[in-house]
Amino acid sequence: MNDSPYRSWMCVVCGFVYDEAAGLPDDGLPPGTRWEEVPETWTCPDCGVTKDDFEMVTL
Ligand SMILES: [Zn+2]
Repeated sequence: MNDSPYRSWMCVVCGFVYDEAAGLPDDGLPPGTRWEEVPETWTCPDCGVTKDDFEMVTL
């Protein structure tokens, strides 16, 4: 059980934000999906870069 606070990750290229609490249902990531659980093959829905180009942000 991972009860640490949800975080947000921002694409440094286009500014798209992945919110762990919201997930990305359109990409098959249900709400609550942790960044670590997002597949390495996942890419930014807006610009197509990989997880390597995302940084954790505090909103
Ligand atoms: Zn992007």
